[in-house]
Order: sequence, then C-alpha cells, then structure tokens
Amino acid sequence: MEDWEDFLSKTMDYYSSQISKLIEELSRLPGIGNKTAQRLAFHIINLPEEQVERLSSVIRAAKRDVRYCKECFTLTDAELCPICRSKNRDHGIIMVVENPRDLAAYEKTGKYEGVYHVLHGAISPMLGIGPGDIKLKELMARLQREVKEVIIATNSSLEGETTAMYISKLIKPTGIRVTRIASGVPVGGDLEYIDEVTLLRALEGRVEL
Ligand code: ZN
Repeated sequence: MEDWEDFLSKTMDYYSSQISKLIEELSRLPGIGNKTAQRLAFHIINLPEEQVERLSSVIRAAKRDVRYCKECFTLTDAELCPICRSKNRDHGIIMVVENPRDLAAYEKTGKYEGVYHVLHGAISPMLGIGPGDIKLKELMARLQREVKEVIIATNSSLEGETTAMYISKLIKPTGIRVTRIASGVPVGGDLEYIDEVTLLRALEGRVEL
C-alpha cells in the first residue's frame, strides 16, 4: 500500500488538480477510502450540471439550517423536531440515546411511542468526557415536567454503561421510573447497526434500575 501523500502526488500528475482536490475532500469523509473517493469524484464530474448544483446546494442548506431540537437535542431544521411536535407521542416517556443515529434506529422499528433525549456522546473518563460535556443537565431540566419513565438506551460499551449508571443515580431521587434497555445488544455495538427485532426485544425487555 502506497501512502496517501504519495498517492495524492501521483494522482496530481495524471488527473487535473481540480479532480485531485475533489478526491482529497471526499476522502476526508468517514468511511470513504481512496478508491471510493476516486469513484465518487468521477461520478460527480459526469453528473449533469444541475444535479451537481442540487447536491452542493442541499449540502450547504443542511449545514446552514440544521440545528438541535430545543427539547430533545436531535438534529432538525425547525425549533422542535417532528417527534417533539407530535401529539401522537407519549411525552411522559423519554428514551435517552447517545446520538441522533441511535434515535433513527429506534424510530425505524416504528413501535416506540415515547419521545427521546439525545446526549451527543457518553461519559468517558478515559477520553476526558465528563457529565458536563453531554446534554445531561438539559435532560434533568426536562424532568421538571411530568415524566413517568426514563428509558436509558445508551450503548452497551463501557462508556454507555458508565453513562447509564450515572444518569440513573441522578434520576432515582426524583422518584421517576428509570429503566435500562435489556442487554443482548452486542457489547460495544453501535445501536444503529443492530437490527430492528433485536432493538424491539431490548426495549420490551427493559429492566428497572
Ligand atoms: Zn425533539
């Protein structure tokens, strides 16, 4: 395997520098290796002009308009996300997840009727991420209103478990029911990669903390 710098300087030689720049930017995206970046770059160049315009303008608009829901902190382009706005959801049940992708995974099951709270991370003493670095006080603030249950659905990684324990200790004194999704979700497994049946089982088999 040639190293990346080497590869780039070679591509500079046989592609135009504009294409090389495009390949370089694309390869910075997560999960995109050199080969994929090249394939995407050539694909983009062969697209009709208006499709490229559309692509670049949706990227810019997404970056400009997307923000956190002021209630649950998931990504949205309105003040409140559609779930927090919905009258059909049970606002007395809050599922706590680490990131918006986990929320999306539970939404895909179509069976969860409560609302969410997105922490944007997990407590990790090793990485120096403390309770103040995730949306925890925002969660506690939500509990001032009528909440029946908080379901902790952080990942089953060390960080996820640490976070779950920390949150349950915080909430317990309030008398609100705190539950943890059942294990069976593979250790360290990101929720977004787990199939819907497993997620539903984990949700239905949740245990009291
Ligand atoms: Zn929301």
